[in-house]
Amino acid sequence: MAPVIRFDTFHNIVNGELRGAKQVYHGLDPTTGDKLWDAPVASKQDVEDAVAAARRAFKPWARTPFEERVSTLRKFADAVKPHLDDFTELILKENGKPVKKDRECHVHYVPLGIVASILPWNFPFGQATLKCLPALLAGNACILKPSPFTPYSALKLVEIAQQVLPPGLLQVLGGDEKLGPWLTTHPDINKISFTGSTATGKKVMQAAAGTLKRVTLELSLKIFADTTRGGNDAAIVCPDVDIQKVAADLVFGAFFNTGQVCTGTKRIYIHEDIYATTLQAMAVAAKKLKVGNGADDGVVIGPLQNNMQYEKVKLLYAEAEKNQFKYYNGDDISLNKTKGFFLQPKIIDNPPDNSLIITEEQMGPIVPTQPWKDEAEVIERANNTSMGLGATVWAKDPAHATRIAEKLEVGSVFINSSPKMAIRLPFSGHKESGIGIEGGPHSLTAYCNQQTIHYFK
Ligand code: NAD
Repeated sequence: MAPVIRFDTFHNIVNGELRGAKQVYHGLDPTTGDKLWDAPVASKQDVEDAVAAARRAFKPWARTPFEERVSTLRKFADAVKPHLDDFTELILKENGKPVKKDRECHVHYVPLGIVASILPWNFPFGQATLKCLPALLAGNACILKPSPFTPYSALKLVEIAQQVLPPGLLQVLGGDEKLGPWLTTHPDINKISFTGSTATGKKVMQAAAGTLKRVTLELSLKIFADTTRGGNDAAIVCPDVDIQKVAADLVFGAFFNTGQVCTGTKRIYIHEDIYATTLQAMAVAAKKLKVGNGADDGVVIGPLQNNMQYEKVKLLYAEAEKNQFKYYNGDDISLNKTKGFFLQPKIIDNPPDNSLIITEEQMGPIVPTQPWKDEAEVIERANNTSMGLGATVWAKDPAHATRIAEKLEVGSVFINSSPKMAIRLPFSGHKESGIGIEGGPHSLTAYCNQQTIHYFK
């Protein structure tokens, strides 16, 4: 039996219950100027209670199958339907709105205008294309700003584009630390598409707020750039995997591009039953990775890209040495003596949870491993970070891996593989790893405004 709904008394609703308020106010009927009914004034405690109740309700609702959510919301609509006349009267009284007009609507996507794309240094060519192509395809003009550490690929790419594109449509500006803020605050730029560290991403968002620029932020926690407790992409390895195969791919996921990959594997959790064997196999696989000049045959691990990153990553090697963490691969942990920014890849065996190698994003060829026993607990550890970019899950049964993947708070999960991005699929960060998406069928809409045209009959 549905409860009786009265349209002359009003309450806050918190945790499924009608809640009164110490303080009340009332609206005015804009047609007559008459006072309307009492409305509650929420207290700070009401907000706290509502947020806590929403947090409790959110997880089971998020796990409810889509069809079931549809059916529940249909029931909601069915419960409202008997009161449509009451609502018509209510809306007229509180808002003065004339009701009922027939219309037909068409929704269009229109380009935003000028997009400034700000790039990091770890993939100078790939990032430039990833940003300028959808911006142009959606009908915008684009100005690329490469990282000062790696300006050359983007400068050359845009030079070549001049053979085909009209002047001004795709431009590139290299520069110093003043250039980024000039772009993010410029009143005639409509969107900032930014990839880089979370700390800089927050500055970009703040600057963009001045003119309400659209932003897409693809972020990672840059090493020692932020006071937030760090976090970084986890690998969860279940006990039933093919150890030799998985070990080699884990090593690849951690050390590809000298570990300078936003979705690179940065913390490896291995089930305790196979921990020691997997670690040995990883050490053997890592030893096969030749370090040296990227132009030489067989070289898999090149130098760090720049001196700043090299010095930061060296702090993690120094931490391992100072605290006598057990490490694998290479004869010692001593640092490079040559001119280039080379480091021997290292696997750090079970460092404490509060060590920098666990809490910071390394972006270098050094990776920690830790054992796990309880599945729920390891998922909790993987999620215990403000970051949420990617993760990998390794298990014999893909359905089992999927169950773990669905509980990870990240934008991309790779099952039984090291991270391998695909531009045709959406790529996005959860939590402080970003806002918006790149890649996939919806990525073009990120470079558009929506326009709805209403035709009245
Ligand atoms: P960064 O944040 O220092 O710099 C990124 C870009 O922002 C550079 O072009 C820089 O010149 C510019 N910039 C700096 N200050 C600015 C400001 N105040 N306003 C506007 N622009 C400003 O990052 P980085 O060190 O170049 O790149 C490495 C970081 O990027 C790593 O943390 C890595 O994980 C992350 N990254 C993330 C993704 C992702 O998709 N989430 C992809 C690649 C790299």
